[in-house]
Amino acid sequence: MTATATTVSGPTAPEDGSAPDAVIELADVRRTFDSEPPVHALRSVNLTVRRGEHLSIVGPSGSGKSTLLNTLGLLDRPTTGTYRLDGTETTELADLERTALRGSRIGFVFQSFHLLPYRTVDENVMLAETYRKPRTGRGRSTRQARARECLERVGLGHRTGFRPDRLSGGERQRVAIARALMSNPALLLCDEPTGNLDSENTLSVLELFDDLCNDGMTLVLITHDETVSARAGHRVRITDGRLTQEAAG
Ligand code: ADP
Ligand code: MG
Repeated sequence: MTATATTVSGPTAPEDGSAPDAVIELADVRRTFDSEPPVHALRSVNLTVRRGEHLSIVGPSGSGKSTLLNTLGLLDRPTTGTYRLDGTETTELADLERTALRGSRIGFVFQSFHLLPYRTVDENVMLAETYRKPRTGRGRSTRQARARECLERVGLGHRTGFRPDRLSGGERQRVAIARALMSNPALLLCDEPTGNLDSENTLSVLELFDDLCNDGMTLVLITHDETVSARAGHRVRITDGRLTQEAAG
């Protein structure tokens, strides 16, 4: 073999050419449902989301938003194409490996907050770990301390003993976000997180998202609301399974 002086990528770039600070890299992802007739829910989607980025996805009903979010959340597998999450190519992984990766790298936030009404705020946050395989011997006191840290992070350190019904909608969503932060995820996937909130509470949740992104969290947010979308630094639109980039916000 002849030695050459050609350097294709810089010293820090991964050898396969992927972006060094990318959390999400979708390459030519398609998802076809085998219904009769088949539905092409995602058609050749290419998307890179970098660490600390806030991406919003807007699109009409039936355009493929949930399919895309399920794909990003490792709840669904592309029919073809590749998905690298935090550097790991995920499409060929076994289900158990995908579940483990999901549990350690991804937090989910939904439109309805899914809080247990008869549990306190900190118990609701701690429950995030009850259903996960515990890491090295974490007792309840450690979990409680971590739950409090996460609640501090969302600005609710003074509400830990409250029940959810004593909180505003924005505070409830902050509790749900604290719960999602318990696994220290690289990525937060949010499906219409402000869909049940008035404009004041929407603003408080959006301000929290800004803070989290400034701390290096990567955020993907699905929304119908153009004012929510306008807040994101990176915006894409999905129409009939195809992504298009929007002008910067
Ligand atoms: P959105 O979230 O934007 O409303 P979805 O991702 O839920 O859109 O759906 C995109 C398209 O894929 C729709 O036409 C929907 O009917 C279809 N679809 C979604 N899930 C399935 C499924 N499991 N089987 C067949 N078709 C599906
Ligand atoms: Mg949907």
